[in-house]
Amino acid sequence: MTRRIEGRLVIATHNPGKLWELRQLLEPHGVDAVSAGDLGVVEPEETETTFSGNALLKARASSSATGLPAFADDSGLCVDALDGAPGVYSARWGGENRDFAAAIRRVERELRERGATGPFTAHFICALAIVWPDGHTEEFEGRVDGVLVFPPRGEKGFGYDPIFLPDGLDRTFGEMMSAEKHAMPGDGSRALSHRARAFQALAGACLG
Ligand code: IMP
Repeated sequence: MTRRIEGRLVIATHNPGKLWELRQLLEPHGVDAVSAGDLGVVEPEETETTFSGNALLKARASSSATGLPAFADDSGLCVDALDGAPGVYSARWGGENRDFAAAIRRVERELRERGATGPFTAHFICALAIVWPDGHTEEFEGRVDGVLVFPPRGEKGFGYDPIFLPDGLDRTFGEMMSAEKHAMPGDGSRALSHRARAFQALAGACLG
């Protein structure tokens, strides 16, 4: 049976932006979100080869270190003509300096080297995992499909946003405000981003 999130929840992230976003989502449901970093939890290395594997690994590490239920996410871009790359290595393609202009150039270069021709279909995935101290887990996934465009368009987002054109829209994620991209529609309609779609699934099951 699906378990509801109640009380205190550790967010297995050291990223203040992610923590803030989650707090907004969880607070109205009486969930007190605290970051793993604030509780002194060391971030584990992401050694799994799937998004859900990495999300589970991070949530497990925080839950066992704190004795509290813990939440983690993992996300990335999968390009069909690159056999799903950069995938779980999306952040690592940005290098130590998180240089996503360079990562975007690498995507374009690898497509060219493979002789791939457009449309370059791709999708973003977001996997969410919650792990309770007794070992119970809940997992959710959100996905958004689109095509890659070169040259990149827009300065608004982060990561691979400027090359991702979601299906059915005429602006890349880089040309959208974050509020539009990640909005959680309250009217029952479907969210746009992979992250918002995953949260919609989580909220429906675990927040109610
Ligand atoms: P994570 O923080 O380990 O989940 O790393 C996800 C990486 O995937 C980020 O560093 C970005 O490069 C990429 N990514 C995930 N979601 C998005 C998105 O919504 N827009 C652009 N890039 C994203």
